[in-house]
Amino acid sequence: MNKKTVRDIDVKGKKVLVRCDFNVPQDENLEITDNRRIVAALDTIKYLIENNAKVILCSHLGRPKGEVKKEFSLLPVAKELTRLLGKEVKLADDVIGDSAKNLTENMKEGEIVLLENVRFDKREEENDDEFSKELASLAEIYVNDAFGTAHRAHASTAGVAKYLPAVSGFLIEKELNFMGKALENPERPFVAILGGKKVSDKIGVIDALLEKVDTLMIGGGMAYTFFKSMGYNVGDSICELDKLDLATSLMEKAKQKGVKLMLPVDTKVGKEFSKDTESKIVKYTEIPDGWEGFDIGTETIEMYKKELEKAKTVIWNGPIGLFEFDQFAVGTNEIAKKLAEIDAVTIVGGGDCAAAVEKAGVADKLTHVSTGGGASLEFLEGKKLPGIECLQDK
Ligand code: AMP
Repeated sequence: MNKKTVRDIDVKGKKVLVRCDFNVPQDENLEITDNRRIVAALDTIKYLIENNAKVILCSHLGRPKGEVKKEFSLLPVAKELTRLLGKEVKLADDVIGDSAKNLTENMKEGEIVLLENVRFDKREEENDDEFSKELASLAEIYVNDAFGTAHRAHASTAGVAKYLPAVSGFLIEKELNFMGKALENPERPFVAILGGKKVSDKIGVIDALLEKVDTLMIGGGMAYTFFKSMGYNVGDSICELDKLDLATSLMEKAKQKGVKLMLPVDTKVGKEFSKDTESKIVKYTEIPDGWEGFDIGTETIEMYKKELEKAKTVIWNGPIGLFEFDQFAVGTNEIAKKLAEIDAVTIVGGGDCAAAVEKAGVADKLTHVSTGGGASLEFLEGKKLPGIECLQDK
């Protein structure tokens, strides 16, 4: 990575504002149900403490839309951080108000303060200059380690970098190193697996990956738009009728580029959108009216697995089926398990896929599981991410 990291600057005795991604899922009692994003931020925080910095953390949580709402407070995050670090993390009552100023004014080396949810102030998402300036005034150095929001130009993800020396944390460094290397210099065969709901969300990625990969496997809801564009009936499956030409042109492009574009050859269809609905596996050319495609079928699973056995680099983004319902999670789970077995660089991106590999118990057998959904997609598309562009070059 050509951006400076915390290793490249002297943080001793300095107040360091660290933008983290603490946007964790919570249950109805606001208990954190998955702390992986907090755990992922620990390396940078520990490094700063060990190097005698004064650490000021900030993050968003959910979508409070510029209003102070108790259910979006970072209090549960402060508690979890305190537990994980074995060290008190003080939570300010506000973002840049009196409480934040008081708590950060006379900090000691190694001390940690967490500001309240940056999205409690609507100027955060507007990337307001005054707000950025005030936020920056709390600290002397800015560290961005929130890969999950690196594709957003908000005050705490990009705006503050105008007013402070800005470098990356270890999480962003790791994300860029793994994904960057895979894209720039992949060991081949290079296979991409793309799933998820809609083709329209993935056009940019499909288009960019067709320039780089040897094989592109399609799964999830977007497969049906391809089937329809080939003239087949898709029943009640998700299908974007205004994207049929696009599907055709993507298939054309694959042909021109010599990329093996793989589509499912069978699909598991359900009677209705429910967990226990009646289901069956049919050929992709024979989806009956009144049925909806929710997963790939057994033959496709075998075909995809066989192809993956030859791969040396694999990037996977988006679930292969309606994996929230067990009977339609088979494709996603089988792909996850196969990735854990093969001798290849395996990179999984996006919240749904990260959850799926975790559920399949194979997350630690993969090369890299990205914490960022939208950000990793935009990175794969080759877009510039504002939260990374704003950092100092090496
Ligand atoms: P995305 O946000 O585009 O990556 O889509 C993720 C969502 O797509 C997940 O909630 C999946 O359950 C859903 N999904 C994947 N395949 C299908 C399908 N065949 N039918 C309906 N939903 C699907």
